[in-house]
Amino acid sequence: MSLFDITGKVAIVTGARTGLGLGIAEGLAEAGCDIVGAGHARMPELERSVAALGRRFLYFDIDLTSQKDIPALVEAAVKEFGRLDILVNNAGIIRREDMLKFSEKDWDDVINVNLKSLFFLSQAAAREMEKRGGGKIINVASMLSFQGGIRVPSYTASKSGVAGLTKLMANELAKFNIQVNAIAPGYMATNNTEALQKDPVRSAEILARIPANRWGTPDDLKGAAVFLASRASDYVTGHILAVDGGWLAR
Ligand code: NAP
Repeated sequence: MSLFDITGKVAIVTGARTGLGLGIAEGLAEAGCDIVGAGHARMPELERSVAALGRRFLYFDIDLTSQKDIPALVEAAVKEFGRLDILVNNAGIIRREDMLKFSEKDWDDVINVNLKSLFFLSQAAAREMEKRGGGKIINVASMLSFQGGIRVPSYTASKSGVAGLTKLMANELAKFNIQVNAIAPGYMATNNTEALQKDPVRSAEILARIPANRWGTPDDLKGAAVFLASRASDYVTGHILAVDGGWLAR
């Protein structure tokens, strides 16, 4: 399994306090990686599980609504651990409202966190990785990188943008041995989908379309994350890997 071994590597994972980011960060730590958890509230659960795996953990406080602290995040990772190998752009928010009533604030907040900060953090990380001879950037996309969705215009715009940026960055960074890919989770049971899970009509409609016949969990993303973070994916770049229980195949 040495192809998938990332022992001694260092990963920044944004939004790792809960949900999919927590699952991804734990998966990377299980494969041997030290973790910088970046978010706007401490991450005691992740800190405990990384320590239990014998890996090192650093929490970095950052509000990704703004881009001002992004350079400091990359600097802190390198100062603490001496290197940066992997960036997982996981932090993301969603606002649900009819398109005809959708506000400018709900547009700007979502685009800022999901798209603008993702781009500028990738830029800062790639500058560091380029100096060190390579790295891996993993973006968290969505089914709405492929489909339109309903009542989530800024989210759909942001995740469609994430798919495009994944390919642009892959094109520009390949010459620096930096691979850029995305994971597109299907319908996963987290805070992000709480409103859908609680809506009996929508949740039944969603479940009926999932061939695997269940919502996904954060653990379901571990394999894809380790693959895209490791040497096993060195010739894979610009790809959007759906982890969706078959949703897109339906
Ligand atoms: P979640 O539990 O709400 O996780 C979102 C994470 O982002 C949280 O850790 C949150 O931190 C962090 N975050 C939000 N705003 C932030 C900000 N301004 N600055 C820093 N961190 C911020 O939901 P999730 O489902 O795990 O979402 C993770 C990613 O997966 C998102 O990009 C989401 O769009 C994507 N996704 C989810 C699904 C799904 O079905 N759940 C499907 C496709 C894609 P706090 O908890 O501390 O606020």
